[in-house]
Amino acid sequence: MLSQFTRSLSCFVKPTPPKLNKLTRTMTVLPKILQDARPKVSPELDYSTYSNYQNFKINHTDLNLNISFDDSIVNGFVTFNLNKIDKSCNEIRLDTSFLTVDSVEIDDAKVDFQLKDRLEPLGSQLIINPPTATSLNNEFNLKLGFSTTKDCTALQWLNGEQTSSGKPYVFSQLEAIHARALFPCFDTPSVKSTFNAAITSTLPVVFSGIEQSVVDNGNGTKTYNFKQSVPIPAYLIGIASGDLVSGEIGPRSKVYTEPFRLKDCEWEFSGDVEKFIQAAEKIIFPYEWGTYDILVNVNSYPYGGMESPNMTFATPTLIAYDKSNIDVIAHELAHSWSGNLVTNCSWNHFWLNEGWTVYLERRIVAAIHGEATRHFSALIGWNDLANSISAMKNPDRFSTLIQNLNDGTDPDEAFSSVPYEKGFNLLFHLETILGGPKEFDPFIKHYFTKFSKKSLDSYQFFDTLFEFFADKREILDAVDWETWLYKPGMPPKPKFITTLADNVYSLAEKWATEIKNGNTTEDDLKQAFTAADIKDFNSNQIVLFLDTLVQNKEIQWNNHHTAAKTLLKIYEDSIVKSRNAEVVFRTYRFEITAQLKESYPQLAEWLATVGRMKFVRPGYRLLNSVDRPLALATFEKLQNIYHPICKALVKQDLEA
Ligand SMILES: [Zn+2]
Repeated sequence: MLSQFTRSLSCFVKPTPPKLNKLTRTMTVLPKILQDARPKVSPELDYSTYSNYQNFKINHTDLNLNISFDDSIVNGFVTFNLNKIDKSCNEIRLDTSFLTVDSVEIDDAKVDFQLKDRLEPLGSQLIINPPTATSLNNEFNLKLGFSTTKDCTALQWLNGEQTSSGKPYVFSQLEAIHARALFPCFDTPSVKSTFNAAITSTLPVVFSGIEQSVVDNGNGTKTYNFKQSVPIPAYLIGIASGDLVSGEIGPRSKVYTEPFRLKDCEWEFSGDVEKFIQAAEKIIFPYEWGTYDILVNVNSYPYGGMESPNMTFATPTLIAYDKSNIDVIAHELAHSWSGNLVTNCSWNHFWLNEGWTVYLERRIVAAIHGEATRHFSALIGWNDLANSISAMKNPDRFSTLIQNLNDGTDPDEAFSSVPYEKGFNLLFHLETILGGPKEFDPFIKHYFTKFSKKSLDSYQFFDTLFEFFADKREILDAVDWETWLYKPGMPPKPKFITTLADNVYSLAEKWATEIKNGNTTEDDLKQAFTAADIKDFNSNQIVLFLDTLVQNKEIQWNNHHTAAKTLLKIYEDSIVKSRNAEVVFRTYRFEITAQLKESYPQLAEWLATVGRMKFVRPGYRLLNSVDRPLALATFEKLQNIYHPICKALVKQDLEA
C-alpha cells in the first residue's frame, strides 16, 4: 500500500502556470459582468451559518461521542482548538439545531452561554461569552457538552427490523447544513480543521478518517479512535455504526458492510477501485488521504452515496453482481479532490464541488472506457438536466449556476442537478474552447494544487482560470458568462460524440417501425431482432434503450403484449437476467407500461429488497398505476423495513 503511494508521489511533478510577468499577474481583471457580480469579501461570506467563523481560526477539532441505540441519541463533547483573529469580536457564536447543550468551557473553566430560539431553516444560534483570556491571537480550547434529540436531522436510526442482520444501525448525512444537528460547530464549508474522534458504541463504528485503535471498555461497548489529518469542513463528517465487517478490495481500500453482503461487495469492487484511483491521480495529483474505503450501507439506506473522506458512503444498489454499476464509485472518489480537498466556501458556489466532481468522474471513466463513454455519460446527464429544470417549481430561482442563498434559503431547497450538470457542461465547454484535455489538464493540476485544503468562491476560480490562460484571453472573453452563470434554464448545448447513443436510438426506432408496420408476432420479431443487437451495450445504454421504448408515445405497449414479451425474450440475458438495480427498475417500468400482469407480483417482491428512494418511490407509483390493491397491500406489509423519510414519502405518494 505504502510503496504504491510513494511510487506515484515520486512521479508527480508539481505543475506550474505559464510564465507571466509580475505585472500581468497582478493585473488580471475579469470581464465586466463577472467583476460587477464579485462579492465584496473574498471568498464570499457564507450566509447559511449563524456562526461568526470569520473571527476565528479553527486549528483542530476533537469529537468524543457515545452512540446509544436504546435512546436513539448521540451525546458527548466537542473541543475546538482555535485563535481569535478579529480584535473587535467579543463573543463566540456557533450553529446548533435540535441539540441540547449542557456545558461550555474555555480552557477548562465554565463560561456562560445562551441558546437562542430556533429560526428555520438555519437552527438555534449558540452565543458564548468568553472571559478576557481569549485575547487576540491567543490559542484556546473551547469544549462543549451536548446531546442530540429526537428531532435530530443529522442521524437516521434503523431498528433491527430494518436491517438484514437484525441489529440496529445508525448513519449520518450532514451535507449541507446538518452538522449543526450532530454537534455544536461553525457549520460552514468555509471552516476546515483536522479532526480526532473517539466514538463509543455497542456495535462497530466507521468514520470519515483513519482508524487508530479500538478499546474494549469491558461493559459491552468499545471505543473506536479515528484521525482525520487533512483539514475538512464539518459537513464532511460521516459516522455509521451497526453490524459491520470489512474485507480488502485493493492495496489501499477496504469495503465495510453487513456480514451477509461482504463476499458480493468484495467481488464487485476488487481491483477496479484501485484502477479508478490511479486514473484520477494521473489527471489531478496523488491521492492525499492515505486509504480509500467504501461503506456499503444497509438496504434501507435511502440515498445514492456521500463522499465522507476516507469512507465513501454508498447505496447497496451499486452492487450489480456484474460490476456494471461500479462507475458510480468514480464520482465519490473524484470528490477526494473536488469538494473534499478544494471546497466551495458557501452553498452559492456548490457547482465548484459538484460540477468539478462530475467533470472528473467522466474523465476517470474516459481513461478506463474511452472518450465515447464520457460523451455518452455527458449526454445522459444533459437529458437529466433538462428533465430536472422542467420539473422545477421555481426554475428562475434555482436553475442558475451561481446561486443566491444569502437570504437564508435552505440549501436543501436549492438542491438539484443544476450544480452537477450545468457545472460539468461549463467545464467541458472551457476544456473544448481552450484546446481539449491536453491544454486543460495543466490547469486542472494548477487549480487543485492552488486551492488544496482551502475553500473558495466562483470568482477565485475565474481569477485563476483567466490568469492561467492569459495568452488565450480573447477565447475566454468571448464566453457568454451571463448565460452560463446568472441566467436560469439550459446552458448552450455542447457538441457530444453520439455514437453510443445513436446505436441505442436506432435500435429503439427499428422496434417502433416493425410494430407500426404490423410485424408484431413472435416469429416476425425474431426474424428482425436477435440477442446480438444489445450484446455489447453497457448498462447505461440498456437503461437508455428501455427509457426510449417507454417514452415513445407512438407505441402503446399495452396493446402489444406479444411484442413486449418477445422483446424481453430476445434480450433475456442482457435485460431480464440483469441484477443491476438501474436495469431492473427500467425492466419493471417497461413491463408495467405494457401491462404484463405477471410482472406485478414480481415488482412487489423487488420492493422488499431495495430502500433507495430513487427506486422505491417510482416503484410504488408504477404498481399503484396498474394494481392499487397490490400496491397498498405491499406497502402495508413492507413499510417498516423502509427508512422513515422514505416511508413517509411513499405513504404520501399512495394517498394522492
Ligand atoms: Zn457529488
